[in-house]
Amino acid sequence: MTKSFETKVVHSKLKQEEDKINSKATPIYQTSAYSFESLEDLEGYFEGNAPYLYTRNGNPNTDDLGYSVAQLEGAPAGMASSSGMSAILCGILAVVGHGDHIVAAEDTYGGTYQLLTQELQTFGIEVTLASFDNLEEVEDAIQENTKLLYSESVSNPFLRVENINALVEMAERHQLMTMIDNTFATPYLLQPYEEGVDLVVHSATKYIGGHSDVSAGVLVGGEELIEKAKGKMVNLGANLSPFEAWLGHRGLKTLALRMKQQSENADHVAESLRNHTDIKHVYYPAYVSEKGNGAIITIELNERCDMDAFFKSLGWIKIVPSLAGVETTVSYPKGTSHRALTDEQREKIGINERVVRISIGIEGAKDILTQLGEAIEESLNEA
Ligand SMILES: *Cc1c(COP(=O)(O)O)cnc(C)c1O
Repeated sequence: MTKSFETKVVHSKLKQEEDKINSKATPIYQTSAYSFESLEDLEGYFEGNAPYLYTRNGNPNTDDLGYSVAQLEGAPAGMASSSGMSAILCGILAVVGHGDHIVAAEDTYGGTYQLLTQELQTFGIEVTLASFDNLEEVEDAIQENTKLLYSESVSNPFLRVENINALVEMAERHQLMTMIDNTFATPYLLQPYEEGVDLVVHSATKYIGGHSDVSAGVLVGGEELIEKAKGKMVNLGANLSPFEAWLGHRGLKTLALRMKQQSENADHVAESLRNHTDIKHVYYPAYVSEKGNGAIITIELNERCDMDAFFKSLGWIKIVPSLAGVETTVSYPKGTSHRALTDEQREKIGINERVVRISIGIEGAKDILTQLGEAIEESLNEA
């Protein structure tokens, strides 16, 4: 019997053996290392007879998180690391090395953009950015030494939805690997691995954890690639702490409930904001999956609105340079995620001083709308 997402999310198989105490929740294995009874036992670890040696190499809690997300994505293997960024780096390094080339989307998350354009060069990895909206441009950027196509299933902050099927088809034609950041969509909405993507990465800091109390990353894919990526994580020291892994795994269990409510709220809020005379643009995807369209809405306010007054009048909606918590929050792309860009670069991708990204929470949709409406009202009074 194939279980539904809602069942799997709370009943994923766990890697570690059941403990004798039968604790309902996985205990926190807050240990940096594991002990052995004999040299023979120790040798047994290297022969695959004991699961753990040293926490940087592996821990039941990090395994629980990585393996659970892998099951939700339909992938055979998964690993958890210290952050979304380290999961991205380990995934990339599992596929490319010195002398190789990546074609990546030009509209990736700010941290990813920095990694691609500033750090990978020191590894001898070449990167070309392309508009993945235009697959011809992507194909034109492919070179002899290209190994990987990198993009996001739903982009930030304008929520462009990637054409994953077309990307996978192109990658197969050119014998390339594909890697997709599925943070905004989560496996509740999209499962890129099932569509043929080789590596799927998450900032578990966002919806996987869901409660804004953990920094973590998850990478899922085939056994061999994940084994390689894990090797990179071990050598780079990018492992996740057992307690944070435990928190992330606990948060994961309510992913389906949260995403359902947050997507429904966002649909409702986006619809109403579209009819607001003082909002110039509402960016919200028309279709991400049959389960919903996600919970991020980006708006551009009218020139008439005073931005300082808007942000000051948001009441219980806080300004937070992140997303995906159970609380509705707003962020200011110009001042945070896209701060490093020049005005010209920002203008090119559509970010100006009137663009606001809203991360919709699980509150009552009507209350979210009322609070946003009040802030817009105040921003007009000040203008
Ligand atoms: C936040 C985020 C990241 C980076 O994750 P961290 O956990 O902050 O390292 C990567 N991609 C996307 C889409 C994100 O939103």
